[in-house]
This record gives sequence, structure tokens and C-alpha cells, in this order.
Amino acid sequence: MLKVDSIVKKFGSKTVLNGINLSVKQGEVVTLIGPSGTGKTTLLRSINLLERADEGSVSIEDLTVTNATKDKKKILDLRRKTAMVFQQYNLFKNLKVIDNIIQPQVVVKGVDKETARRRAIELLHQVGLSDFADYYPVQLSGGQQQRVSIARALGLDPEVILFDEPTSALDPELSKEVLNVIKQVADTGISIILATHEMQFAEEISDQVIFMEKGNIVEQGSPRAIFHNAQNERTREFLKNYQ
Ligand code: ATP
Repeated sequence: MLKVDSIVKKFGSKTVLNGINLSVKQGEVVTLIGPSGTGKTTLLRSINLLERADEGSVSIEDLTVTNATKDKKKILDLRRKTAMVFQQYNLFKNLKVIDNIIQPQVVVKGVDKETARRRAIELLHQVGLSDFADYYPVQLSGGQQQRVSIARALGLDPEVILFDEPTSALDPELSKEVLNVIKQVADTGISIILATHEMQFAEEISDQVIFMEKGNIVEQGSPRAIFHNAQNERTREFLKNYQ
């Protein structure tokens, strides 16, 4: 279980997250929606501790990190329970596809290279890219690169995967193949937090949908409640743009 408690994040004088609370149960898919610049990416980065919040805490099971936490091991332990899939894939361009999946397992989890290789082969199969192990990222389409980055994240055995607008750089056809892989990942029972502008997908895949605006959670609920029976005028206004 992941818990975000009263997170505040400021950049200079600008408050980007204004006391966000969130909990994600084992196997749950939580989707963040909302206008651009609303803080979705910053929230994911704060959960992953790529950004340190100014106030509040992030917990996974019995591990809690606040802005006052100085213990590097604790911070690293919490960070290792999550894996992030970025908008722009962030693969190592000088490494082959398979090595992009092997290396983080060796560096982060400390597994030996042969074990990591076997796992990477399985993961490439899972994301439908068995034939591309020896390619370099630049030789792949955007959708294929994003599937490699999902395989890389899975190789870390995280408790929660954080997807930051994973299809926003892709055209619809390539988005579809990535969304199918995300659906498969969700079916394996891993917890997911996903920031997306793909409303139809959010409706299909989510257990819980959170509408954010200007650093606040305006409304949250089941996909049915948010997409078909939103109570807040701002939520309805935002969703109108997607009809
Ligand atoms: P989008 O849907 O466009 O990706 P978002 O909801 O993910 O938007 P964020 O990327 O979290 O929004 O940005 C929230 C606000 O914080 C924006 O105004 C952005 O300019 C600002 N911001 C984000 N990162 C930084 C930073 N490192 N320094 C200063 N301001 C930042």
C-alpha cells in the first residue's frame, strides 16, 4: 500500500502541489487527469523522490520519507519500491535494447548479469519485442521504445509503477500498442499510478480516477463517477474538451 500524505511542493514562490493526499492499494490502478501544468508530473516525481516535497510524506508499507528524512538508505529503499516510465522513454541510447533492461537490474537490484539477461529476455517477450534485443533504441519506433522502458521498469520488480503520460509523444496507432502493454501490466496485479490525457483508456483501466487542477485534487472516484457523474463543475468543464 502506497500513501501520500499532505504533500506540498513549491518551485520558488510557486506552489505546484498544495497538500495532496492519495492512497493506492496493492494491485490498484489510479489515474491522474487534469489540465497541463496542474502538477501531475510533479506528483509522480515526488512519489519517486526525484523531487523532494517541501511538506508531507510518502509511505510504502512501513517505510516513510518526509522532507526531513536524511537517511540515504531509507530514501533509496523507498525509491526502489517504485519505477517510473517517462514521457520520453529515457533509454540509454548507447546501449542495446537488452542491455537497457539488464543494466538497471544489475545496478539497482544487484542481480548477476546472467540472471538479469534471462529476465530481460522474458520481459522482452512479454512486451512483444523478442526480435529487437540487439537493436539500439534509435532503430525502434517511439511505441517500441516505450515498451522497452516498461520492460526495464518491470525488471526492477517495483511495488508501484508510475507512468508519466506514456503515450503523449506517440501517434494513435503506436499509442495503442503501448496502452495494450500497460493493460497487461495492470492485469499482473502490480499497482499503477498513471498520468494521462487518454480519457477512454483511463476509464477502461482505472480503479480510481483523480482530477487535479492547480496543485489540488478537485474530485476523485471510480471511473464511472468521474466520467459519467462528476459532481464538480470544474471536472465537467475539463472533460467536455474530450468529448
Ligand atoms: P502536463 O499535463 O502538461 O504534463 P502536469 O500536470 O504534469 O502538466 P507539471 O509538469 O507537474 O504539470 O508542472 C506543474 C507546474 O510546475 C508547471 O507550472 C511547471 O511549469 C512547474 N514546474 C515543474 N517542474 C518545475 C521545475 N523544476 N522548476 C520550476 N517549475 C517547475
